[in-house]
Amino acid sequence: MPSPDFVIRSRRVVTPEGCRPAAVRVRDGMIVAVTAFDEVPRGCALREAGESVLMPGLVDSHVHVNEPGRTDWEGFETATRAAAAGGVTTIVDMPLNSIPPTTTLGGLRAKLAAAGGKCHVDVAFWGGVVPGNLPELPALFEAGVVGFKCFLIHSGVEEFPHVTEDELRPALQELARLGSLLIVHAEVPGPVERALAEGAAATGGAGDPRRYESFLRSRPRAAEDEAVRLLIRLCRETGARVHVVHHSSSDSLAALREARAEGLPLTVETCPHYLSFAAEEIPDGATEFKCCPPIRERENREKLWAALGDGVIDMVVSDHSPCPPDLKRREEGDFLKAWGGISSLQLRLPVMWTEASARGHSLEHLTRWLSREPARLAGLDKKKGSIAEGFDADLIIWNAEETFRVESSMLRHRHRLTPYEGRNLRGVVEATYLRGEVIYERGNFSEEPKGMLLKRGG
Ligand SMILES: [Zn+2]
Repeated sequence: MPSPDFVIRSRRVVTPEGCRPAAVRVRDGMIVAVTAFDEVPRGCALREAGESVLMPGLVDSHVHVNEPGRTDWEGFETATRAAAAGGVTTIVDMPLNSIPPTTTLGGLRAKLAAAGGKCHVDVAFWGGVVPGNLPELPALFEAGVVGFKCFLIHSGVEEFPHVTEDELRPALQELARLGSLLIVHAEVPGPVERALAEGAAATGGAGDPRRYESFLRSRPRAAEDEAVRLLIRLCRETGARVHVVHHSSSDSLAALREARAEGLPLTVETCPHYLSFAAEEIPDGATEFKCCPPIRERENREKLWAALGDGVIDMVVSDHSPCPPDLKRREEGDFLKAWGGISSLQLRLPVMWTEASARGHSLEHLTRWLSREPARLAGLDKKKGSIAEGFDADLIIWNAEETFRVESSMLRHRHRLTPYEGRNLRGVVEATYLRGEVIYERGNFSEEPKGMLLKRGG
């Protein structure tokens, strides 16, 4: 039996044609029409969202779930609940920090088995490129990963080693042949090693490890800038689609702008923390701010905003990468030894809206950065990331004026240490719909996990 239609309407519906009053008609989990505000069929169930914003559910293409193997860091149950509470209806899981990593078909099967029946939102998967796994790529691709990730510098975990240019080139050729893409952690080791050696020569050590500046100096912009130059060169040479993850250095923006003007198939993401914090403001010992590449200076942050505004940076995703509190070494406050990773899966919408609205950006921009472009990156953009006929009814209703103070007790991540604690943010998620069903409403979750495991193409 097909389910009857219902309608959600709002004075502010963000559609691909702009933000306007509209009514969104849903049937069997899909959007079947986006009509004028008053066009509600007689007898049809109606939800009035009033002045609250009706937007496509957020898509987060950069989430480290860590299950199986490091489920004590983060798992599918907790990560997807945090997602639902944050208005995120699709996440794409990273291939590393779980054990095994998603670098073999067996690794993907272990992921699917671990995730089954636990997910409150839809989940798709990245595969991994590591030295020696070239023969695995076609099977992973056929099994439905949405693309592949690699590192150009130590990843932080032993079971996911990084690749060099000699390994990167054949991998890109293979991915171009398959019609897939490579997303890349773009820092190379040379400048990091040089910075550490220079620091040691100047100070007799790496500097006071409790000072943020010591850490920032150890991950110079040059590490990203060199990596970006390498990727542009190989993108041109192989024709493969390349995506730079969590970009932070504003010094590479000119090169990225030129590469895009040249028409290379290259895209770029950055993260909320690079757009909201500044190195100058990070207190000594506050290792919850540590991530790689690092949060940089205020001046760098404003250049990232400009690049986002003019489209050189395509999207903003969380890089949610938690770990147990002891690995953050918060007691010692040692930036050099602490795990690098920031937890923000649940907070991307209010963090971004707070910062974006203060800089004059619109709800349409926000939707492009948080929903549409991440869906497109993962090849899910026929079903996800837009309010339009034929799309999944993944929808959020949120109040764009209401503010709140981040308390760790409201976070659904497995571990609640976050640099956003205590920040006043604008934008409160009222309800999250996944394929037409309410999965979250003002602090309450649907009991049954309703998320599906997605394959390439949706
Ligand atoms: Zn990451």
